[in-house]
Amino acid sequence: MVKRKSDSRFDAVFPDPGRVGEFRAAIVAWFEENGADYPWRRTRDPYAILVSELMLQQTRIATVLERGYYLRWMERFPDWGALAAAAEDELLAAWEGLGYYNRARNLQKAARVVRDEHGGRMPESPDEVLALPGVGRYTAGAVLSFAFGTRAPVVDGNVVRVLSRLLAFEEPVDSGAAMKRFWEWAEALTPAEKVGAYNSGIMELGQRVCTKSAPGCENCPVSGFCRARSAGSVDRIPVKAGKAAVTRRVERVGVFTRDGRILLAREQGSRRRGLWRLPELTEEQASDLEECFRFPYSITRYRVDLRVFAGTPGALDALGEGGDLPGGADWHPFAGGAGLPPLGSPYRRAIERYREEGGEKVAGD
Ligand code: SF4
Repeated sequence: MVKRKSDSRFDAVFPDPGRVGEFRAAIVAWFEENGADYPWRRTRDPYAILVSELMLQQTRIATVLERGYYLRWMERFPDWGALAAAAEDELLAAWEGLGYYNRARNLQKAARVVRDEHGGRMPESPDEVLALPGVGRYTAGAVLSFAFGTRAPVVDGNVVRVLSRLLAFEEPVDSGAAMKRFWEWAEALTPAEKVGAYNSGIMELGQRVCTKSAPGCENCPVSGFCRARSAGSVDRIPVKAGKAAVTRRVERVGVFTRDGRILLAREQGSRRRGLWRLPELTEEQASDLEECFRFPYSITRYRVDLRVFAGTPGALDALGEGGDLPGGADWHPFAGGAGLPPLGSPYRRAIERYREEGGEKVAGD
C-alpha cells in the first residue's frame, strides 16, 4: 500500500494494511462470483478496452450492448490502424445515436497518435496513456488496469457512491477538493494483484448493489466495513451540492423535400462538426409553415422543445431563400432513410416520424 498522510476518516475503517487486504479480497471474490460478462471483459486488447470506455463515458451499458454499437464498431474498426485510417463520415455514422461525438473524434485522434508515435502499440506508461486525446484519469486507470494489470485506481460515480458510504463522507462530493480525496482513497485501496477484477468489482458493486435509491446492504460483500450502514446514514449519502439549473428552449426546424431528396444543413460548432441537421427556422419563418409535430429532447443542461414544420419547395422560396439554400445546406437522397449522412439523433427521429406520418408524400413534389 502506498504511504498516505494520516486520514482519520479512512483510518477509522481501514486501521491497518490487513483490513485493507480483507476489503480488496471481498471485492475481488464478489466480482469473480457475480461480475457481468461483457465483451470488453473477455479481452486484454487495450484498443477494444479504450473503445468500450469511451462509449460508456456518457452512455448506458444497455444501450451500447443491446443496440449493437460496440460490436458493430469493433467489426468496422477492429484495430488502431483501421480507425486511424477511417473517413470522418464513416466514423460519425458508426457513432450516430450515441451523442457526444467528440468521443468518436478523440478515439480516432488517439488511434492516430498510437499509429504515428507508438508504432501501432498502446503505450503502457501512465503518462503516455494520459496524454492520449479523450483520456482522463479515470479512462487511463481503466485501460492500464484492465489491459496491462497495472496498479492504477479508477474513480467514477459508482466508486464515489460506494466510498462515500463506506467512509460516511457527509460533505458534498461534487467539488474538486472532494474528488481529490476520493482519488487518494481509491489509490490506497487499489491492489497490485488482480487489479482488473478489483476495479471492475468496486464499480459494479456501486452499479448493482450500492445503488443510489435502493442499496442492497444485506447482500453487500463489504457491509462489515460500512460506516454509513452502521450509522444509519446510507439514505443521505452521497451528498450533492446541487445540479446546474435546466434551461428550456424552443427549436424550430423545417422539413423540405424535393424530387425524393431532403434539405439538410451542416451543424455548426466544433462539438458537432461533420454532422447534419434539419435546417433551423426563425419564429417568423415558421409562422408561415404547417407544424407537423413536436417532441422534447435533452442535451447537456438544455431541455429543448423541438417543433417540426413542413413546407413545399415553394415555401422555401417564400422564406426568402430563393435559389440560395441556407448556409451550408444541401439536398440529400431521402428514399427509405438510406443514404442520409450522419445526423444528430433528434433530427433523425424527426425525419423518421415525418416519414411514418406520410409527410414525405404531403410535402414532396
Ligand atoms: Fe453500500 Fe450498503 Fe454496502 Fe454500505 S453496506 S457499501 S451502503 S451497499
